[in-house]
Amino acid sequence: MTMDSKPLFGKVALLGIGLIGSSMAHAMRRAGLAAHIAGFARNPETLDAAERIGFADSLHDDPRAAVRDADFVVLATPVGAFAELAKEIAPHLKRGAIVSDAGSVKTAVIGAVAPYLPQGVHFVPAHPIAGTEQSGPEAGFAELFDGRWCVLTPAAGTDSQAIETVKTFWRRCGSEVETMDAKHHDLVLAITSHVPHLIAYNIVGTADDLEAVTQGEVIKYSAGGFRDFTRIAASDPTMWRDVFLNNREAVLEMLGRFTEDLTALQRAIRWGDGETLFNLFTRTRAIRRSIIDAGQDTAAPNFGRSRARRS
Ligand code: NAP
Repeated sequence: MTMDSKPLFGKVALLGIGLIGSSMAHAMRRAGLAAHIAGFARNPETLDAAERIGFADSLHDDPRAAVRDADFVVLATPVGAFAELAKEIAPHLKRGAIVSDAGSVKTAVIGAVAPYLPQGVHFVPAHPIAGTEQSGPEAGFAELFDGRWCVLTPAAGTDSQAIETVKTFWRRCGSEVETMDAKHHDLVLAITSHVPHLIAYNIVGTADDLEAVTQGEVIKYSAGGFRDFTRIAASDPTMWRDVFLNNREAVLEMLGRFTEDLTALQRAIRWGDGETLFNLFTRTRAIRRSIIDAGQDTAAPNFGRSRARRS
């Protein structure tokens, strides 16, 4: 057995076994990272689906039972549920355990979770920057994190061994790992993820409200661009409501910039300023090129046919 094939943890508890939690379980199984994977969800249908798929060794409808004797506990529910969960599990955590999460926002999550954690438990917040518009235990797959970044945002003074262990965990799940300050993470993700989702939700909502254009036409002619926004706008409503409620400051700051730039474009269109439009569109095309060069997407044209399941 090589060093890399040894389980990193005895028991891992996944609190939330939807897209992210179940993908973590599949990736853990693939890499042999845990001797025992415990999963928690509230609804019997979620637990039944997880049982059918078989990515966990034990399933629980009580988070306290799931975390008992766990070496690694990951919060993977919508972030609005983290505080309550942390409060509930805190007295049942094993001394020396590492608590982490997969939440899409970090400052608010740290504020919601850290105060409940007892001495001797290490908190290493994480955000795997990988996802799809699907949710639930059936949506997960082992390759979700391959080649994607996972950002860790531990507070200063966090046990360095615990941080190293979480880095190793994510690398063995296929990710590349970066560490940054939680506030900076929230600003970066506001522009790379949260505002784009808000724009998608908004444009799809606007189209749905139109009276002069029928819904049938919106759907029929969607390949003109609209369709690509609908994929993002199909993302889980609970998760995304919680993201906006918990990353308010950063999202509002980026939205302010976005609105100013949109007004400048509106003005360029009004005044027939083709040069401004052309220059911007040339700059943005180069950004697409850099994303492909960085291996974060492929250059293959996508005419609505399914390709890799990851986004
Ligand atoms: P998901 O597929 O909707 O799964 C959520 C899981 O949490 C389910 O097991 C659900 O099961 C459980 N849950 C929901 N509400 C709960 C509550 N109030 N209390 C306890 N359990 C609850 O969501 P996901 O996409 O995996 O997202 C999970 C986390 O990962 C979120 O914090 C999100 O911000 C983050 N994240 C998501 C993505 C993405 O693209 N989706 C990417 C990176 C990070 P029951 O309903 O049966 O309880």
